[in-house]
Amino acid sequence: MNVPAYEYQGPLKTIVDTRAVVELVPTPPPSARALQDILHKARSLKGLTLEEAAAILNIEEEAELKMVYQAAADVKERVYGRRIVLFAPLYISNYCSNNCLYCAFRRDNRGLKRRQLTPEEIGKEARALAEQGFQRVLLVAGEGGPGADIDYLCRAVEAVYRYSPLRIVHLNVAPQTVDGFRRLKEAGAGVYQCFQETYHPPTYRLMHPAGTKADYGWRLTVMHRAMAAGFGDVGMGPLLGLYDYRFEVLAAISHARSLEQAFGAGPHTMSVPRLRPALGAALKEVPYPLSDTAFRKVVAVYRLALPYVGLVLTTRERPELRDELVDMGISQISAGSCVSPGGYAEPEEPAAQFEVGDHRPLKAMVAMLLEHGHLPSFCTACYRLGRTGRRFTALAREGDIQRYCLPNALLSLKEYLVTQGPPELREQGDKVIAASLASIPDDHLRNEIARRLEGICRGQRDLHF
Ligand code: SAM
Ligand code: SF4
Repeated sequence: MNVPAYEYQGPLKTIVDTRAVVELVPTPPPSARALQDILHKARSLKGLTLEEAAAILNIEEEAELKMVYQAAADVKERVYGRRIVLFAPLYISNYCSNNCLYCAFRRDNRGLKRRQLTPEEIGKEARALAEQGFQRVLLVAGEGGPGADIDYLCRAVEAVYRYSPLRIVHLNVAPQTVDGFRRLKEAGAGVYQCFQETYHPPTYRLMHPAGTKADYGWRLTVMHRAMAAGFGDVGMGPLLGLYDYRFEVLAAISHARSLEQAFGAGPHTMSVPRLRPALGAALKEVPYPLSDTAFRKVVAVYRLALPYVGLVLTTRERPELRDELVDMGISQISAGSCVSPGGYAEPEEPAAQFEVGDHRPLKAMVAMLLEHGHLPSFCTACYRLGRTGRRFTALAREGDIQRYCLPNALLSLKEYLVTQGPPELREQGDKVIAASLASIPDDHLRNEIARRLEGICRGQRDLHF
């Protein structure tokens, strides 16, 4: 048997000490006084200890939860301002040699129509997304399938750049070796994202009975391999609903801290995927269903514990909850997602990974964000200019993120409005841009942004700081 080398020398418990985390799960909620102290500390962007995070996860009192949500919203605003970054997933293959019980792509789902896109077909999908106004995509694939090895993945990344004007390609694909990750980086990949699904080893074994993914350690060490190979930015997050969400959130925070210790930078993003029904999945019920209140707590605790980590919310959730959560700590959202390969160019493709909860197209999401006073951003500058990993974290800690991200959000939104954006959004978008511009205290920066905004009106593109 081919035993994968993790290329991580330490014991797995130095990444996540699951026994220690189990003991923290029943931590009682904090007293009123202790809660105030914890939230005060979190507002000053110092994060939370695991004990503090556990205590907050056990709060049930509505009034206290409101205080927690408000603190999360304040932290989001301080670090990220009103910006919300938009992206779309691009499914390139639904072949899979694993058998994850919850997923429609699993090997034993004989009813699923399998498809693996060619580079040209990937280009067609990418162009369909670019025509809507997207600038960044997340390539998603099952593991294995005809030719679905590292060569295929590299060709897929290159195809997006070759055949479409999209500016950055992120990845949510199977864990690779360090060498494999180096090649993906060279092909032009931005963020590498991979979900541990569950940090609870017995649940992990149960949910992943076959294939490479059955090896808990191979997956737990993946971020270390990706970062060692030069991925400054990695994204993570357990799949919520497989096990006790309190355990999963605490374990994910520990995982993030272990990256910080090893590489001087934690994950770039934390996602909050919640289990959805999937046609042909072996799992017929959610093993540990979590309520919307529990889900809100998860978002708030991540935001307070990891203030500089981007929080990603996908279209797995329904519109009302998504609209609420962008006010409370989320900094990136997907929109108009299709979760089957080829589905953007040929919308009736019936090979989806799970049921989508929010079907609104990009323009409806932009309209909602503008209406709620957010600043939709299509910026891709940091990845392309190498402001990633430790460099990005240092900028964020010094508050400098505002010097880059806010101007780039304004420029990228303006470009969207004058190119693909629907005319009815232009007036409202321009108002939001003008108000944000006026809020910038530095005269030189403000004038420079105004000059570039005019440049975009005159036909200049891809202007960024
Ligand atoms: N195959 C690769 C893997 O498993 O890491 C990457 C792509 S996989 C399609 C992306 C993610 O979809 C998985 O990591 C899992 O968390 C999520 N997923 C699978 N089935 C799901 C379901 N029924 N509901 C919500 N998310 C699901
Ligand atoms: Fe395959 Fe990923 Fe689905 Fe598991 S979650 S069956 S590895 S596509």
